[in-house]
Amino acid sequence: NQDRNPRAEQTVCPYCGVGCTIQYAGNGKATGTAGPVNTKGEICPKGGAAYDVVEHEDRLTEPLVRENGRFATAPWETALSRVTDRLTEIIDQHGSDAVEFFASSNCTNEENYVLQKIARMLGTNNVDNCARLCHSSTVAAMSERFGAGAMTNTLDDLAETDCLLVTGANPAEQHPVIFRSYFVPAIRNGATLIHIDQRETDTTNAADIHLDVRPGYDIQLLNSMAKVILDEELVDESFVEERTTGYADLTAHLDDVDIGSGADVAGVDPETVQEAARTYAEADRAAIITGMGMSQHACGTDNVHALLNLALLTGNVGRPGTGVNPLRGQNNVQGAGDIGALPSVLPGYEPVTDPDARQRVADEWGVEPPSEPGLTETTATHQFGDEIKAAVVFGENPAVTEPNATSVGAGFDELDFCVVIDLFETATVDHADVVLPGSSWAEKAGTVTNTDRRVMRMRPNADLPGNARRDLDILTDLGQRLVDQSDAFDYDGPEAVFEELTRVNPLYAGMSYDGIGDSFQRWPFPADADSGTDVLHTETFASGEQTASLAPVSPTPPADAVTGEQLVLTTGRVLQHFNSGALTRRSETLMRMRGEDVLEIHPDDAAARGIEDGDTVVVESERGSVTVSAAVTATIRPGVVFCTFHYLDPLANALTGDALDPVAEIPEYKHSAVEVRTP
Ligand code: SF4
Repeated sequence: NQDRNPRAEQTVCPYCGVGCTIQYAGNGKATGTAGPVNTKGEICPKGGAAYDVVEHEDRLTEPLVRENGRFATAPWETALSRVTDRLTEIIDQHGSDAVEFFASSNCTNEENYVLQKIARMLGTNNVDNCARLCHSSTVAAMSERFGAGAMTNTLDDLAETDCLLVTGANPAEQHPVIFRSYFVPAIRNGATLIHIDQRETDTTNAADIHLDVRPGYDIQLLNSMAKVILDEELVDESFVEERTTGYADLTAHLDDVDIGSGADVAGVDPETVQEAARTYAEADRAAIITGMGMSQHACGTDNVHALLNLALLTGNVGRPGTGVNPLRGQNNVQGAGDIGALPSVLPGYEPVTDPDARQRVADEWGVEPPSEPGLTETTATHQFGDEIKAAVVFGENPAVTEPNATSVGAGFDELDFCVVIDLFETATVDHADVVLPGSSWAEKAGTVTNTDRRVMRMRPNADLPGNARRDLDILTDLGQRLVDQSDAFDYDGPEAVFEELTRVNPLYAGMSYDGIGDSFQRWPFPADADSGTDVLHTETFASGEQTASLAPVSPTPPADAVTGEQLVLTTGRVLQHFNSGALTRRSETLMRMRGEDVLEIHPDDAAARGIEDGDTVVVESERGSVTVSAAVTATIRPGVVFCTFHYLDPLANALTGDALDPVAEIPEYKHSAVEVRTP
């Protein structure tokens, strides 16, 4: 497409949080390029198909404004005036806290920074991003104990580890370049891999030990592993003495744990639990890699607390090749939190309740952010039409990705006003009043932050289609129209936003846009330092303390209890697709590889219901019902079924429930009670 002026410029893959660098390759395709994370330029099928969405015929190229129930194209001035007028009316009538802002884990630091600045300058902390749905519980537990919620270590040093404890994650499929480029070399060098997951995946195939824990019973498993470590005197006593508190309380708590019955409740073999605990504790350097199998539970924060105990008891924190390392699932989900697109923290994870942090921001903005934490997106969607009257949705698709999605979709229709900025007519666009056509990965500049805290540059590989605009230009335009101090949004491009960001985010203080260049800079990067910090918590924790607490953790049962013949539905992702599927389902290449969803079910559960491989089955929960083809496979634990949330049909989140972790408000995506039957 000559009009789009496609060109090859090193940029970052728009999908998972690995941060592979890609560029336009000609013939409407993207290719991998040697970059900071991936020196060989390897990519996975999603990265290779990334350009498929850029020139897709479904791209929105004109603003849409709903008139008499139907969308009509409109000039930008009309659409932006409608947004400004309606939001201003609603704020005048109901206050700023009547608006919820959905930031995007898939857009740049600069775009998210401007969005949260608009929200806060309007007087609300009601801004959140998709991190709420994936690792908010991990961040809550790690921040409380360590003072920082991100990967403690770097991918490079994990390639040197002696033991990988991978729990609730399937990096061979979800972070394939990390798996190939970092974990496989570690395994070839003799590292053991322990995999905790209900499914046998490609990650399990590379594992030495597999624990197919029952969904929702991780704490029993992790407490049993901690008990083995105590009983067999595998504790790193000098580390516990120097770097932890609460040892006596934890040992007293674990006194009551019986390894046999703990393993029994968790549905695993006690001897395998002992072997896994020994393997982890006896390794010189052992690293925990944690994913959504741990975090997406109503007890997700407690799950991670129990996991952190293992690392602290064995001294596996603060050294290369160790640590606790959440793998991030979107190309800027780490950055969206770093820059403050969360309701309780300002840029740099400084609490909104901290007067000094608010003053630091006020010095830059001329306006002090509000001091009360805002609503998370999972709480806000339950208040649509009540406290929440309007939503600004930037590059997210909550009508598909929120739990109990049918109810959330109905909630959107209770709003007085909804504006969506996106590339396509997503399921959320169906509920919007105004739609603003934004920019894809290939049409934007700025920075994103990958899973191991590397800030990298994105660069345009094509011009915009039709009258679509750059997301940053849309947001700064809205800021100028909505906020009294309109010069607060007078930026000369992403570099100017990044410079401001470095002044208000202490974690990014020493970085510069030019300094990042074709490489990266890693946070924390203090203003007076020459470079960022690779391994966290080496001498002191990020909390500033020399010690972190050990935490007694008691199990709580899953909120959505299974009764009678019900099975446990757990949802997740596959290699070929990404989140709501709004992008990857538009790629012919990826749809040829995996065109439809299936429900994985164990042969025993299938036989008990008269289900054969390929049969259409009905899956039903208290919230809704879907039909899907059955994939009968012994690779899933009996009693558990699995499907993805990438498709509109079946809409997996029509089945998932409203239960939230009480600390992080993350949904219980990994445990829904369902009936499975033939139609
Ligand atoms: Fe993109 Fe992740 Fe695949 Fe790399 S591994 S190409 S970042 S989706």
